[in-house]
Order: sequence, then structure tokens, then C-alpha cells
Amino acid sequence: MTDELTTFEELELRPELMKALRNMGFTEPTPIQSRAIWPLLEGRDVIAKAPTGTGKTCSFGIPLLECFRPDCTDVQGIVICPTRELCMQIADDLRALAAFMPEIRIAALYGGQPIGRQIVALQKKPHFVVATPGRLIDHMNRGNIWLGDVYTAVLDEADEMLKMGFVKDVRKILNATPRDTQVALFSATISREVMNVAWEYQRDAVEITVEATGSARPDIVQYALYATGDDRVNTLCRIIEGLDLHRTMVFANRKVTVQWLCKKMKAHGCSVDCLHGDIPQSQRNRVMEGFRKHRFDTLICTDVAARGIDVDDVEAVVNYDIPDENEYYLHRIGRTGRAKRHGIAITFMTDADEFRMRDIKKYTHSDIQTVTLSDDGQLVPETDNKEA
Ligand code: ADP
Ligand code: MG
Repeated sequence: MTDELTTFEELELRPELMKALRNMGFTEPTPIQSRAIWPLLEGRDVIAKAPTGTGKTCSFGIPLLECFRPDCTDVQGIVICPTRELCMQIADDLRALAAFMPEIRIAALYGGQPIGRQIVALQKKPHFVVATPGRLIDHMNRGNIWLGDVYTAVLDEADEMLKMGFVKDVRKILNATPRDTQVALFSATISREVMNVAWEYQRDAVEITVEATGSARPDIVQYALYATGDDRVNTLCRIIEGLDLHRTMVFANRKVTVQWLCKKMKAHGCSVDCLHGDIPQSQRNRVMEGFRKHRFDTLICTDVAARGIDVDDVEAVVNYDIPDENEYYLHRIGRTGRAKRHGIAITFMTDADEFRMRDIKKYTHSDIQTVTLSDDGQLVPETDNKEA
């Protein structure tokens, strides 16, 4: 077995798992999958840095399910992630991978859902648990779950999770697993906090870096457009109409902006809905489901509400506000151009944002082209022929 695999067949996975992969339409591993799956199957610790949309979920999902131990009646694998949306998404992905292994039970534990339902799920003795740190700690404190038999602990979007202040919770969770538990860290960036957790909980970890280049680089064309104040609503609607977009994610920095924008765009006759932290969980699930099922065209959201969300065919991402942090830029535009589709990213900016824009370009190594909007809503590259 070489270090990198080129086909899933080389792994000689359980036939049920191969069948699930074929059903999902996955014929060959993505670069991160081709490098992370084998060491994880061998039981090694892994620290993997890979940009969004590169297929990290299957990188840990396939080894988790391949190593399923039917004789183990306690939780044998946990996946910790920063948000409830991501938690549901990962649980769904694992269930899809386990579609032909009906004996496998997978539970999702996240804040915002009544705890009673989750207690019932835990009483059914799940083999795998996907959880946000806070809710998992809650169940641990209530004695609903025991992590003393966990073989594998995965931290997904580790940088985000630790940045959100979950360091203590994550340590508490890992401390509750056996000393020799396999620890897999997946992250878009390897921050100081991620390194600290790696030093404390990993041994001789296999380090994997997948750059956003070559085949792993999502196919995203990036534009910047000067647009200010409330004019942006008009501009946005014209773009959506002009480019005939039916699946767009629009990011704003604040909840109030999201709410306001949603109202304004509806008034313009646009087909929109929104997600932000103050929306109750049940409604958030409905909105997500609606967007996935193409019930409306444009989803407006804050960064936190959108984190980790994987909707396959987002055509365009619009930054209504320029993001406060460079990493957010990558996270946002990573919503489009996924799984080998083309995507466009449009960032609204003002003169005052020019410095921020330069910083983002430098940090993300992005080629962001300045464009203007034509009368019929097309993006026209600025011909940089100013007279000397
Ligand atoms: P990440 O966690 O790195 O952001 P995901 O695991 O969410 O990425 O995967 C991104 C997209 O790529 C998803 O739509 C997923 O279904 C798809 N995908 C994952 N692995 C493969 C594969 N081997 N072949 C084709 N598509 C894949
Ligand atoms: Mg992911």
C-alpha cells in the first residue's frame, strides 16, 4: 500500500461502504481523502489542514465506519464540531455512508434541540456520536453518556471550534476518553490553539496539508464591486436577476443587517430567506431544508449561522459586507465551487475597504478582479487604462 491512494478500491473497504460511496456518486478519493484515510484506518493520529469543500467529512467518516466494532456496546467514535448545523450535516453524511449497515446507530447532540429527545437517542446506545462541545458536556454531566470506550475522537473545523471559546470543553471531552484514543484533527487552518490540542492529545501524528491549489482548488471566480450603503440592495437584486442566479448565499456581518436585508429583498420581489443566531432551531432547520430543496433562491446569513454548511450547488456567494476576518472570506467563498462545480464570489466594497481588500488578497492569495455592473446586471471587468 502506497501512502496516497488513487482509488477507493485499494482500501478494500467493506462492500457495504463501497456500495454507499458508489450510491453517493463518489468514484475517486479527493486529495485529502487519499492521504488521510489510510493512516486513520491504521489507527494513527492525524492532523489535517485542508480548505473547505475538499471532502474532509469522508476522510474521517470512511475510517470510522470501516473500523466499526459491532461487539462494542458503548460509544466507539465521537465527532466534535463547532455548530449545530454542521453537527446535523455530519450526522447526515455519516448516515449516508452507513446506508447499507443498518445495525449502526448514529446520534447527533447539539444545542437548541430539546434535550429529552437526545436522551432517548442515547438510551438506544449509539455507536457513533456527532456533537457540539457544549451539549456533549451537558450530557456527560448528566451521566447520559460515557466516553470510556471511545476508540476514535475527531475534531472537525478544529480552528473554528477552538476560536469560539470551546477550548475548555474540548479538553474536558478528550480527557474523558481513554488515554490511547485515536485523535484526528481536521481544520482549515492550524492555529496556535489547534497546535496546543495536538501537542497535548496526539502522539506521533501524521501531518497532512492540502493546499487550495491544483485539483483541490475550488473553481471560483472572484470579483470585487464598488457598492455602498443601501444601494447595495438594488445592486444585489440586479446581479441576481442579470446573472439569473437561483442559488446564492449572501453574507452580512451582523444579524440586524441580515434581517433588514431579507425584508428589503422580499419587498423587491426576490425569493429569499435568512439564517442568523437569533432564529429558533426548528425554524433554522426549516430554512436550511428549504434552501437545500430549492424552495427559495437566495439565503442571507451571518458567518456563524453558515459555518460548515454544505449545500452542493451554490452558484454564487455575495459578501454584502466585507468580512471582518480574512479567514471568513475563505470560509464564505468556500460555499461555492464545491465538488468540481464552477462558482462565483462577489464582494461589495467601498473606498474605505480598499486596505481590507488588499489584506484579504494577500492573505488568501486570491485573484480578485474589480468589476462594474452594467445596466443589464452583468459584471464587467474594469479596464485599468487610466490616463497617466
Ligand atoms: P469539507 O468538510 O472539506 O468542507 P465536505 O466533506 O463537506 O468538505 O465535502 C464537500 C463536497 O464534496 C460535498 O458535497 C461532498 O458530498 C463532496 N465530496 C466529498 N468527497 C467526494 C468524492 N470523493 N468525490 C466527489 N465528491 C465528493
Ligand atoms: Mg467539513
